[in-house]
Amino acid sequence: MTRIRPRLLFAVPFLAGVALPFLLGAGGQVTDPVGVAPDRYTYYPGTEALAKDEIRVIACGTGMPDQRLGQASACFLFELGNGDKFIFDIGSGSMRNIAALMIPYQYLDKVFLSHLHTDHWGGLGSLWAGGWTAGRPVPLEVWGPSGMTPDMGTKYAVEHFLKANNWDYQTRAYKITPVPGQITVHEFDYKGENQVVYQENGVTIRSWPAIHAGDGPVSFSLEYAGLKVVFGGDTTPNKWVVEYAKNADLVIHEVFPPPWVWVEWGNQPPQLGWRACCEFHTSGPAFGKIMSEVKPRHAVGYHFFNEEATRYVVYDGIRETYDGPLSMSTDLMVWNVTKDAITERMAVAPEDAWSVPGTARQPPPQKGLPDPMSDFIRNGKWREGYEASDEMLDRMMEKYDLEEQDWRKGYWDR
Ligand SMILES: [Zn+2]
Ligand SMILES: [Zn+2]
Repeated sequence: MTRIRPRLLFAVPFLAGVALPFLLGAGGQVTDPVGVAPDRYTYYPGTEALAKDEIRVIACGTGMPDQRLGQASACFLFELGNGDKFIFDIGSGSMRNIAALMIPYQYLDKVFLSHLHTDHWGGLGSLWAGGWTAGRPVPLEVWGPSGMTPDMGTKYAVEHFLKANNWDYQTRAYKITPVPGQITVHEFDYKGENQVVYQENGVTIRSWPAIHAGDGPVSFSLEYAGLKVVFGGDTTPNKWVVEYAKNADLVIHEVFPPPWVWVEWGNQPPQLGWRACCEFHTSGPAFGKIMSEVKPRHAVGYHFFNEEATRYVVYDGIRETYDGPLSMSTDLMVWNVTKDAITERMAVAPEDAWSVPGTARQPPPQKGLPDPMSDFIRNGKWREGYEASDEMLDRMMEKYDLEEQDWRKGYWDR
């Protein structure tokens, strides 16, 4: 799968208070036949330090609940110049994109959920368990809205996520170590209007209500170093986004294709298609109307299948009502935001990355936890099969100095 999708680089200078997007020249100048062309299209994960007052946003999911190879469900990673990283929504399939960025899992422990549709949090299990097996030393922390009743809120959802995943939890807790398998939930009132839900280390995150399918969904803004980035969850046009996203630097907002796309491409009955675009979500013209009112330095549309067949009808819909800077996002699109410029690039990421170690180490296995394996199953072990690994294990025992921890000692006497 080729991930290289050249995009244009925008710089957005201000003239008399008006943002004027213009295109930079084609990658600067190549002055030497053996020299390199200054890069303008691509972000290579892990190769660029952030400036102190810079925010990098990476789309790790931009598609639909039925995710596809090119687009996972909703997920945006925010990386800040102070070292903080926040995951806003973690839809189904998005972990593959997060993992491709090769960020040590010790830094990926904060998740903010806009609402509890699976295309916005269905990937939590992969971060929870995958980060656990790949070295996260601490519990995950999840922020999300309350619901109309307790059983419609984030706390209930996460508690029951852990219950549903009890077998996974118990077996990993016993074999690895239990702490990274815990989840700390910070549930906040979904009705809060521009309320602060997180404030630390120079970062303020606020929420306000969204209108989508039922009570509970919210949108977020993140303020850092005098910059403001908005992550809108699923919503129809609402008064809060128009007020609280106003003049933000980057505004990420959902945008849906028109009804005929759902009928002809999306396998939906007409009565559903013509509600999906506009009663549950935001159409192109409605997205444009919002952006014309909010006037961000740069607008980002997501939550549509972005390919040649149906991209342009979404774009044309937006352009009916908005003529400002715009990204039609797809997975692994990257925005760097500073006071001076907002750039849009594509990440060129490896398909086969291993997790990269950080500096933190997981706590050792905890003794005394209940063994999730009975004698009945244990007694089914075929000794000759196990012993086929002995020679290799002996070598590794010596290499890593594991005599003290040789799990084979007395293994067959139990
Ligand atoms: Zn939704
Ligand atoms: Zn959604």
